[in-house]
Amino acid sequence: MGNIVILDENTANKIAAGEVVERPASVVKELCENSIDAKATSITVEINNGGISLIKIIDNGTGIQGDDVEIAFEKHATSKIRKVEDLNSISSMGFRGEALSSISAVSKLELTTKTLNENTGTKIKIEGGVLKEKEECGCPKGTTVIVKDLFFNTPARYKFLKKDYTEAGYVEDVVTMLALGNPNISFKLIINASLVLQTPGNGEMLTTAYSIYGNNAKSTIGVDYEQDGIHITGLAGKPEIARSNRSHQIFFINNRVVKNRTMSSAVEEAYKTLMQVGKYPFVILNLEINPELVDVNVHPTKQEVRFSEEGKIFSSIFHAVKNSLFSGESLIPDYSLMKIEEPWQKEKMPEKSSGFPLKSGLKQQDYGKNFEGGNSYGFHDNASKYPKYLQGTFSEIKEEQEFYRTFKIVGSAFLTYILVEDGADMYIIDQHAAHERIMYEKLKKDHEEGKQVSQMLLIPEVLEIKHKEYELLKNNADIIESLGIAIEDFGSGSIKINSLPFLCDKDNAKEIVLELIDQLAENQKENKKNKKDKLLYMLACKSAVKANSALSDQEIAALIESMNGLENPYTCPHGRPTIIRMTKYEIEKRFGRA
Ligand code: ADP
Ligand code: MG
Repeated sequence: MGNIVILDENTANKIAAGEVVERPASVVKELCENSIDAKATSITVEINNGGISLIKIIDNGTGIQGDDVEIAFEKHATSKIRKVEDLNSISSMGFRGEALSSISAVSKLELTTKTLNENTGTKIKIEGGVLKEKEECGCPKGTTVIVKDLFFNTPARYKFLKKDYTEAGYVEDVVTMLALGNPNISFKLIINASLVLQTPGNGEMLTTAYSIYGNNAKSTIGVDYEQDGIHITGLAGKPEIARSNRSHQIFFINNRVVKNRTMSSAVEEAYKTLMQVGKYPFVILNLEINPELVDVNVHPTKQEVRFSEEGKIFSSIFHAVKNSLFSGESLIPDYSLMKIEEPWQKEKMPEKSSGFPLKSGLKQQDYGKNFEGGNSYGFHDNASKYPKYLQGTFSEIKEEQEFYRTFKIVGSAFLTYILVEDGADMYIIDQHAAHERIMYEKLKKDHEEGKQVSQMLLIPEVLEIKHKEYELLKNNADIIESLGIAIEDFGSGSIKINSLPFLCDKDNAKEIVLELIDQLAENQKENKKNKKDKLLYMLACKSAVKANSALSDQEIAALIESMNGLENPYTCPHGRPTIIRMTKYEIEKRFGRA
């Protein structure tokens, strides 16, 4: 007998199902999309164990007529298209007609539904693709789908699932996106019996975003713009709520979440002069556009899209965002919500400060005192002791011991680069990069020696975060604690920051913890040691003096002296140089003197 056989229908269905149903989040997405297509105005999603043991979706949509219920579970059963031409103008969410059949093939599914005109509803139970029960039942208008024991009959798929909280996080992402894309629908998400998200369903993007992102949503500017038949609405975040990755750039086309490089590039181009390096704007944009201009079917389960007229898309998004950012509404951060506080802002607005002592890196007035007494900025307080000699840049020319005794400060360029002259050389030091390295080594040393000292926040900061972010903090609690950061649950989606490492500026508590969350999210797959290292870089960066801030000669001298004795004074923790050298000879050559 040959080796090739035709798979029986059940097996073939299970394989096909795997392509639609990857994990609990994909089930939630498909079922919610059905509810959206059914014109629901309220959708409740409930999951247990990351959705593996239970997913329940309740909607108040049109419902399915009793005699259609069974058909809806057939492969390619859909009420949404009739012929192939319809595919081009489809405005509904899903049109492959395989969600219900696929999900019911790999789970124990129960659906109850009733249309407005029917007196009784219908209940159907299907397990592993096999119809178990169908009966009339009493229920309100709408549809409830309960999916239990996902992948109970496909162990290979089951094995690919991640930990419950990770799967729950994916579900939260899906519901968040659907909620933002459909502000006219009230979404509720319940994870392990606690409500983690609820949107108002009032059609307003701002209040919807507020219900998800809390106060951060206040630091946004509305977008409403039309060009080339493309209508763009949404929110553009002020630079103060920028994040360190692109996960807060959310795009919809006709209310459907999509991913596309052109769209991100257009946004980043619009923000160009406003963003610090390594920061990405927070934006939520919906494009209402003729569906024929978009190819959404690049991959059915992915969100990548292609455009037939990329240029138009780029240009319309660019102008939409730019117009909002530079029109009327001020980009000057709202002080009460501000997380990024530059020293100059504190100095200019003392009356608005919250009453904490101002402590902002090197700009502090009593800096000199701090320096002499051993200080919180990680500068060495014993400048006359040079335990270790620098290599490379310095040693090529002369012993660095000499350098640290004889350098002369020339000044500072662009409030960022320190110019130093020493013998026959000129050095240019990037003040932020250098200070970042100093802080990093200090934090690292303290950490390794178990000397991490933390400072209590006099008035603890309260921060609203998403459930997923909370889980991330919880799962890395040991690392966070070992770094001297104390955070506690403050109820209803918020946390309280109680203490920070001593070297950090406690006025930046919120910013530091937001950054902490981003770093943990980005480095989920890393081992503990690497995670810690990434967090130490981050803490160093946050506690270092910023570029574009004026330093006194005394502060400059302290900074340079502190570079002495570092393990690696030549690059910042991210690998950028801290210091470059130009010889007098080179300069003289350029002027034709040598
Ligand atoms: P598709 O959504 O691609 O049409 P599905 O398998 O997801 O395919 O659903 C099959 C059909 O079942 C839909 O076309 C729709 O008519 C009906 N249906 C599914 N879910 C719902 C719901 N929540 N409310 C009303 N009708 C639904
Ligand atoms: Mg569907």
